[in-house]
Amino acid sequence: MRKQFAVVGLGRFGGSVCRELYSMGHEVLAIDVNEDRVHDFANYSTHAVVANATDENTLLSLGIRNFEYVIVAIGDNIQASILCTLLLKELNVKHVWVKAQNHYHHKVVEKIGADRIIHPEKDMGVRIAHYLVSEKIIDYIELSPDYSIMELIASNKVANKTIAQLNIRAKFGCTILGIKRGEEVIVTPFPEQLILEKDILILIGHNNDLKRFEEEGI
Ligand code: ADP
Repeated sequence: MRKQFAVVGLGRFGGSVCRELYSMGHEVLAIDVNEDRVHDFANYSTHAVVANATDENTLLSLGIRNFEYVIVAIGDNIQASILCTLLLKELNVKHVWVKAQNHYHHKVVEKIGADRIIHPEKDMGVRIAHYLVSEKIIDYIELSPDYSIMELIASNKVANKTIAQLNIRAKFGCTILGIKRGEEVIVTPFPEQLILEKDILILIGHNNDLKRFEEEGI
């Protein structure tokens, strides 16, 4: 389904969010105070406009209220990011996602109603650290401080066995959400599903259980 997004701030983060949404076929309004940046995004957005997103009248004239999702990706100017978030919530934008620079920025935008707060550098750092420590780990997404989703590559230890035979949930407390096999994705596999070597298992579980499975089970 085509959704309507507005991206405020076309730096490295906002810029890549904008391009990706647009390439997926969504409607994207790209906003930045910097004319050169806006010019660069003319072909990677539905509309690209030079505007100061801390000005309420400007936001109103852009029809920002009609957007389902607004991503505030203003970088170093924390004051501008906070003010923009405040205005968007006052204008009743339903989903305001904010890129936070630090813990204090996070706390303030959380208080004024940001619906989701993103720390791309921190999150990416955590993910990279996990790839670094184990060659089995393909991807890692932190759901909360205790629970995560992990993608692990199947070794010959689990290959040619079914999920039921491996009994991963009982032995390790983790659940297989899906299996990636080349281009194919097997979603919520049945217990009789056979695992092949080099399959990528997508698992959800407590961090301790996932770690144990990664070290001993696969
Ligand atoms: P990143 O760390 O993602 O690369 P940057 O700091 O490079 O972030 O980019 C932030 C962008 O936000 C810049 O292009 C800047 O011009 C834009 N920006 C800053 N303040 C405002 C504002 N008030 N309204 C709109 N865009 C803004």
